[in-house]
Amino acid sequence: MIVTAKSTRSTPYIGRFAPSPTGPLHFGSLLTAVASFLEARRQDGQWLLRVEDIDPPREQPGASDEILAALELYGFEWDGAVTFQSASRAAHGAAIQQLVDAGKAYPCGCSRRDLADAPRGTLGIIYPGICRDGSSASEYALRILTDDIPIAFNDQLQGPQEQSLQSDSGDFVILRRDGLIAYQLAVVVDDHLQGVTDVVRGIDLMDSTPRQVWLQQLLGYAAPNYCHLPVAVNELGQKLSKSHGASGVDLQHPEGNLILALELLDQRPPPELKASGITDIWQWALESWDIAVLRQLTEIPMPVQAEEQ
Ligand code: GLU
Repeated sequence: MIVTAKSTRSTPYIGRFAPSPTGPLHFGSLLTAVASFLEARRQDGQWLLRVEDIDPPREQPGASDEILAALELYGFEWDGAVTFQSASRAAHGAAIQQLVDAGKAYPCGCSRRDLADAPRGTLGIIYPGICRDGSSASEYALRILTDDIPIAFNDQLQGPQEQSLQSDSGDFVILRRDGLIAYQLAVVVDDHLQGVTDVVRGIDLMDSTPRQVWLQQLLGYAAPNYCHLPVAVNELGQKLSKSHGASGVDLQHPEGNLILALELLDQRPPPELKASGITDIWQWALESWDIAVLRQLTEIPMPVQAEEQ
């Protein structure tokens, strides 16, 4: 048997961009925003904006406002009001309760030290199931039971994917010991609540998708279609991110940066577009957008100057 993500393509397209407010919008996130926005519009779909503010220790004060201001300056237009993931705390709690009641989630009191000798896979520790039969710890996380069944989905750009959770992550955390909701659970619940049909995001999150598909199965949700984009990397091959020193996008010259994003996404904007304003650049991009040119691509090397942006 194999768990296969069920596609929902018969319904109107609803896409989204879901930045975490861990710093200002950097160029790597701009690429994801541009691609997910253009794909949604190309499919006559909606494009939602959701700030994933559920991990305060990793967040930077003011980052949400900075990200929203940058997106506005770059001329993005989202549908409806911006949503904040912290506002769906009750829905996250209800989904967790549903999983506990179904016997699919269990308390785990293991500390980092308890897991020091646990086997490691590409996703980090493979949880060896220590607390599956019970835990007497007063502080605990909640883990989701995984099965031996491979999880499969067909990525729009990267093709068929398959992962065995039991050998790649083991039972994974949905509620952290510190009481915070784990990303895997929150993203699944919010995509479901918002009716998201298509997730276009960076390939660095593709490893998470099977855990999300598993949660969708257990919660009885339809799986969205997935499309994992190549991610921007610096000259050392590191993903552009705050932890690798990427700073916020240039707010003085959005036109030049938007053209650069389209070039790096291999859309080949004509040279004369460089003299155009934001509206005309978007107009060209909306008419010309073709996501298929990114098929099988996993990395977008950044020109050195652009990394400064
Ligand atoms: N909030 C995540 C991030 O900024 C993205 C989550 C997602 O697109 O599923 O990396």
